[in-house]
Amino acid sequence: MSMTLQEAIKLSGTPTLMAGSSIKAADEILADEPVAYAIVANCTISGVGTLHGVVAVTDRRVLFCSRVLGQVQAASLFFQAGIGVGNISGPLTYKLPLSGSGTSMTVELGNRRTLSAFQNTLLETFMSFPEHGTLETIWAEDLPATTPLTKRGQAKQRIKANKAAGVACCPKCGSTSLSANKKGFSFGKAAAGSFVAGPVGLVGGALGANKLVVTCLNCGYKFKPGQ
Ligand SMILES: [Zn+2]
Repeated sequence: MSMTLQEAIKLSGTPTLMAGSSIKAADEILADEPVAYAIVANCTISGVGTLHGVVAVTDRRVLFCSRVLGQVQAASLFFQAGIGVGNISGPLTYKLPLSGSGTSMTVELGNRRTLSAFQNTLLETFMSFPEHGTLETIWAEDLPATTPLTKRGQAKQRIKANKAAGVACCPKCGSTSLSANKKGFSFGKAAAGSFVAGPVGLVGGALGANKLVVTCLNCGYKFKPGQ
C-alpha cells in the first residue's frame, strides 16, 4: 500500500501539532517516493541528538526529517544498503534502534500498536524492494520483571504477551529473536507471513504463506506462519 506522506501520517493517527514544517520538509525530500507508513515521533540520530519530526517508510528507505527554526535535519537508511534492527527498549516509549550504512537512528514508537505497525511495514516494504540487501532483525524486547517462573512458565508468559501485542514470536519458547536472510528459507517472507497471521496483519496472503518457514534464533524451532 503506498500513498503520499500526508495520507500516511493521517492514517497512522499520530498528532501532527508542532510538526507541520517537518512534514513539509520531508515531503520535499521524498518528492514522488511512495510512502508505506509515516508517523510523527521523537528520534535519536547518531551524532546529532534527539529530535522531533517525521519518520517515513517508503519503497526504498526509512527517512527521518525534522525542521526546527528553518533548519532541516534529515537521515535516511536505504533498504539497498541493508538495515540493522536492534532490540526494542523503553517500557513506555518502545524505542527501536535502526542502523544502515553510515548512520543510525532510534525511533520512539510510543506504544505497542505503533511498534507493531512499524515492524509490519518495515518487513513488508523491505521484502517488496526489488534489490533488497539483508535485513538483520532481532525483534527482542525488554519484558517487565516478573516473579521467577519455570522455563515453560516463562515461555508461556512471553507467548501470551507477544500475541496480545501482535508481535510475532516462536510458538515453542516465545522468543522474538529472529533473523532475516535472503538465502535458503527466506526469513523476511516468513516473518511477514507470520505477521499476517497475527492480529495486526497488513500483508494479506499474497506471499504464499503455505511455503514459508520461520526459524527461531533462540531455540532453533522451525514453524509455519500463524502456528
Ligand atoms: Zn523458540
